[in-house]
Amino acid sequence: MRNKIVAANWKMNQDEYESKNLTYEILKHLHKTNNSSVYKILCVPFPFLNRISNMCEGVNMLFVGAQNCSAFESGAYTGEVSSAMLKSLSISYVIVGHSERRVMFKESDDLILEKMKRLILKQIIPIYCCGEPYAERKKKNHIRYVLNQIEQSICNLKKKEIKKVVIVYEPIWAIGTGITAELEDVQEMHFAIRKFIRSKYGSSISKNLSLLYGGSVNPLNAKQIFDLPDVDGGLIGGASLKSQDFIDIVNSIN
Ligand code: PEP
Repeated sequence: MRNKIVAANWKMNQDEYESKNLTYEILKHLHKTNNSSVYKILCVPFPFLNRISNMCEGVNMLFVGAQNCSAFESGAYTGEVSSAMLKSLSISYVIVGHSERRVMFKESDDLILEKMKRLILKQIIPIYCCGEPYAERKKKNHIRYVLNQIEQSICNLKKKEIKKVVIVYEPIWAIGTGITAELEDVQEMHFAIRKFIRSKYGSSISKNLSLLYGGSVNPLNAKQIFDLPDVDGGLIGGASLKSQDFIDIVNSIN
């Protein structure tokens, strides 16, 4: 059984007061309708992890995640946050490989793999992002590009490790642009990723892999995207900063 997941990526937005308010509003909506078949994950900035985890404690199928973690275990790495630190706050999910980190912070597939291994060692689930720039799609090289990202990172994990990973396909040109990928393009890529994982790890792993889509998902387009056969939910950026929109997106999953 594949888990249905909707994860919010708040990115570097909001101060402490606004974060608490947004969480409070989400909790209020969930009190009225909580789609309990969906894992809901709020990936919030580091300084607010503890406070928001405390606010969300005990709410059915609601989890708090981070947006990054260090590839190092511990020590003299000023400014880094380790998987052990996140574990000590009971954080259960962390986004890795987001295109904003790959592009702006020059994160390589190797580094992303190290981060995933650190997280899995601490029983934290990596939410692994992959996706092509527009130029690759234009050249019709998008599938090869994304499968290569997966091959270079995820496919170095052992079978028992990959079971713990959630994969998100996020075409870079669709992130924060208001341009959503065409439904057939989303399904084509998700099908290709699942088939690739099956070829590497076998059908029981690929059948149970939660494969999300990210890129300008909103309450109006979410249902059509989530109804695609190989899509198990979404990673939501901009729309996750509005409580009602986020809950409407969660409730778009059957
Ligand atoms: C993201 O940053 O992961 C994302 C999908 O953003 P948006 O929903 O704003 O496109």
